[in-house]
Amino acid sequence: MKRKLTSLDVTNKRILLRVDFNVPMKNGQVTSDARIVSLLPTINYLLEQNAKVILCSHLGRPKGKIVLEYSLEPVAAHLSKLLEKEVMFAKDTVGEDAAKKVKALKAGQVLLLENVRFNAGEESNDAEFSKQLSKLADVYINDAFATSHREEASMHGVAKLLPNAVGFLVIKELESISEVLENPKRPFVAILGGAKIEDKLAVIDNLLNKVDTLIIGGGMSYTFTKALGGKVGKSIVDDKQIEYCYNVIKNAVNKGVKLLFPVDDVCNTAFDSVDAPKVFASGQTPDEYMALDIGPKTVKLFKKQIKRAKTIMWNGPLGVFENAYYESGTKGVAKAVAKSKAFSVVGGGDTVSAIEKFDLVKHIDHLSTGGGASLMLLEGKELPAIAVIEDEK
Ligand code: AMP
Repeated sequence: MKRKLTSLDVTNKRILLRVDFNVPMKNGQVTSDARIVSLLPTINYLLEQNAKVILCSHLGRPKGKIVLEYSLEPVAAHLSKLLEKEVMFAKDTVGEDAAKKVKALKAGQVLLLENVRFNAGEESNDAEFSKQLSKLADVYINDAFATSHREEASMHGVAKLLPNAVGFLVIKELESISEVLENPKRPFVAILGGAKIEDKLAVIDNLLNKVDTLIIGGGMSYTFTKALGGKVGKSIVDDKQIEYCYNVIKNAVNKGVKLLFPVDDVCNTAFDSVDAPKVFASGQTPDEYMALDIGPKTVKLFKKQIKRAKTIMWNGPLGVFENAYYESGTKGVAKAVAKSKAFSVVGGGDTVSAIEKFDLVKHIDHLSTGGGASLMLLEGKELPAIAVIEDEK
């Protein structure tokens, strides 16, 4: 287990707390603050301990340049409202303003540094930039779970230069995923969806060694349908992965894993067609149609498995849920997961958005804040920015 923030003495110390405040914004206003809210337990704990809290985050992809639209200043204002206390803001990350404001920072105060990705050394994990960051603080804490698959200076380089620990959000994320992967109550049902099968190959390989049932839906399922000899019309298919899909099916049989695919699909002639969609049996999609959601028989089939499950892991929507025509499949499955008494973990940006859209957040045991980071854990790999943190003694 990695060292927790509660194991370090933080009182009166300057704490460099790496967070993920990469939140959606419009016209200089935060439009969804879920990621900020998820960091409040750690920030509040540090404030209660009378630490000097220096927050560091990225926003967007400014690629090492100052791009005002990606300034974190509006986030400081938003956080200040949530904390009901002043949040100071430094107009740079390691420059004069940051140095001056860190020096003036008193115990129990909060300072947010400007977007760390305005610095070219961040994404290249530059040693000199890591050193400059480390000079701002006495202790480093990583609570930026969603960025922990990245080997960047504020995630990785700086952690090696200071006494370090992980924050409450990272602890919760790691514990939830490990409960699912290492110690699942059975039956363990995993549900994978989304458009790109390529991103989930290693996840499928790892899950085949862990689950009792693997449900594959969404855009990625049509490559399997094609591998099984079905007609997929204009549905998205990754022809490079046909053989891989074929091997997954063989491996599932060898390992005794129940593998489920859609049996019917909601189809249309184009993504943006205004015509009413039609339902066809899977593998029988007419040439001029594409499958954009799982059909009603499939929802029933998947629900039956979900109802039996004691552990559920879900990553990837089962249709183009952003469009009301094609949301029923994802919604039906989301409701079944929400209703289930199984321990449920849902990850991936789009899947979490779907759960939020259907107002089911309260009914899921753990909603992961990380997309790429969650997938990497599901692949059975260690996250580089977590690996670098000392183990608990
Ligand atoms: P990913 O980033 O690979 O997890 O894909 C997420 C996206 O997959 C969502 O935006 C969905 O709209 C999309 N998606 C799900 N099912 C389908 C489908 N049948 N055809 C095309 N896109 C899909």
